[in-house]
Amino acid sequence: MGEMTELRADCTRCAALCCVVPAFLASADFAITKKAGQPCPNLRTDFRCGIHSDLRDRGFTGCTVFDCFGAGQRVTQELFGGKDWRSAPELRQRMFGVYEVVLHLHELLYYLRAARAFDDDPDLDATSAAIDTAAADPSDVDIHAWRERVGPLLEAASARRRDGLGGVSRRGADLMGRDLRTMRLRGATLRGAYCIGANLSGVDLFRTDLLGTDLRGALLHGADLRETLFLTQSQVDAARGDATTRLPEGFRRPRHWA
Ligand code: SF4
Repeated sequence: MGEMTELRADCTRCAALCCVVPAFLASADFAITKKAGQPCPNLRTDFRCGIHSDLRDRGFTGCTVFDCFGAGQRVTQELFGGKDWRSAPELRQRMFGVYEVVLHLHELLYYLRAARAFDDDPDLDATSAAIDTAAADPSDVDIHAWRERVGPLLEAASARRRDGLGGVSRRGADLMGRDLRTMRLRGATLRGAYCIGANLSGVDLFRTDLLGTDLRGALLHGADLRETLFLTQSQVDAARGDATTRLPEGFRRPRHWA
């Protein structure tokens, strides 16, 4: 483990764990219902998606916005030596359980490293190292305890980064479908806020904390996301933008954006 790129999904090195481990409920995000541990019917024998280029039109938007933060390839390659649940069915239950734990740990690692990019608290590094070690041997991991430890670190780093900007707290706010173009969000926190379908076009998001903000269908045309805090590729993929939307370095512009 090392660089941030290892905290992004690399499906070419994974045995399609995200296509089999979670349960799906037929909804706007998934066209079908399936049980946890049951392979998606669209999954091919080579562990590639049979409808990859057509996911949104076929009702699988949820698949296009999911990111395992690199847990899939770590479990498949590093923890199970390249084995997969089809050719080694005896590993199936253990592999699936490990994947669920590592998925949570990698998400925490992603946020810790995102914080480390703008804050020099040595606890961020120490906690990252400890979580990385836990992910290498996830047999007895208390996810809740790790979340309790990481949460205050991220909170403090965010507060330091936003200090002096006069940003308001919209933590957990219900902003669904709202026109936010005139709302002052510079230096604000939108942690856990519901911005589904909200209009954030052209909004000043300088050092706006977006940890866990639900941006599904949010309009980001002309918005500058380069200095936002804790943005994920999944959030970008779930939102709507265009060529005028400015993304942080290393982020992909979604194919479905105009
Ligand atoms: S539709 Fe494709 S990407 Fe989505 S779960 Fe099924 S096989 Fe995987």
